Amino acid sequence: MKYEFPVTKTKNPKSKPDPNNLPFGKLFTDHMFIMDYDEGKGWHDGRVVPYAPIALDPAAVVFHYGQEMFEGLKAYKNVNDGSVQLFRPDMNAKRTNRTNNRLCIPEIDEEMYVEAVKAVVRADADWIPEVKDTSLYIRPFIIATEPTLGIHASSSYHFIIILSPSGPYYPNGLEPTKLYVEDTYTRAAMGGTGEAKCGGNYACGLKAQVIAQEKGYDQILWLDGREQKYVEEVGTSNAFFVIGDEIVTAPLRGTILPGITRDSCIHALKAAGYKVSERLLPIDEVCEAYDNGDFKEMFASGTAAIISPVGELRYKDKVMNINDGEIGPIAQMLYDKIYGTQIGMVD
Ligand SMILES: *Cc1c(COP(=O)(O)O)cnc(C)c1O
Repeated sequence: MKYEFPVTKTKNPKSKPDPNNLPFGKLFTDHMFIMDYDEGKGWHDGRVVPYAPIALDPAAVVFHYGQEMFEGLKAYKNVNDGSVQLFRPDMNAKRTNRTNNRLCIPEIDEEMYVEAVKAVVRADADWIPEVKDTSLYIRPFIIATEPTLGIHASSSYHFIIILSPSGPYYPNGLEPTKLYVEDTYTRAAMGGTGEAKCGGNYACGLKAQVIAQEKGYDQILWLDGREQKYVEEVGTSNAFFVIGDEIVTAPLRGTILPGITRDSCIHALKAAGYKVSERLLPIDEVCEAYDNGDFKEMFASGTAAIISPVGELRYKDKVMNINDGEIGPIAQMLYDKIYGTQIGMVD
């Protein structure tokens, strides 16, 4: 193998959680992967070590200027032969480098990245839950560690991968969610970091999220940052609208995250013969379609929940009840297809 990483096994393995009762992203396995970057040396010393807190200098760049990025993917046990399956990890490696480029973080060899994910998942393979709708959620991330208060790209970094045996992202699984269309705050502007997967995009969205939750909504549907006219994406996922016989999702023009699940959805829908458009969709068009009875279905796509149907969408004072608050046939088909592929049930 081109890349091999030393493994230090934990001396104190934790007891495994009940796979029938797993929260999302709250429990962590016995090991983690860590690799360092230093200017002049490049990325070095990738290793699998016992899961533990890390010590950082309080002046580390990440604490002051937020130079950090993250990824998310999942591992499953194949239902037929028990082998470990990762879902499209090369796509996460590629996206990491696009994010890194935007945030002036040094790129990582993509083959090495995938091997690092495999190495830590292998060390904790017995943590992969096998109950329906559970998985081992994998969180790679990079933080800037140089201790300096001057603003410039850090000269040192940690690349870390942690693993979390997880149940469904939404406690009620495929039950439709309620979304609030945000018309005050914005998440991303043209030329900003909307297409990079970084903590900063989330920090600036928290306020709107809290207000929406106080009003009884699960998540936000963001509008574009310039005119607050076009629909963009939903919290941690991409948005799809079924309008008449067209399925519409926002185009990749720098302000939304290029979701891997979004890409899988577009391919699956086209293969099934649907008309899919990546185009600007004004929120007013969605409202009109609702009034005409053409707004058939809405769902969000992302690694965490895979497909999350939307049962209610509120824009200003207009409350749109979608598909009688039930999961629609297209959302169900996509969930079955993508989840089925992930666990090895369908190809
Ligand atoms: C991660 C993420 C998504 C979904 O991407 P996937 O690759 O499908 O998991 C969508 N929007 C945002 C803002 C994200 O951070």
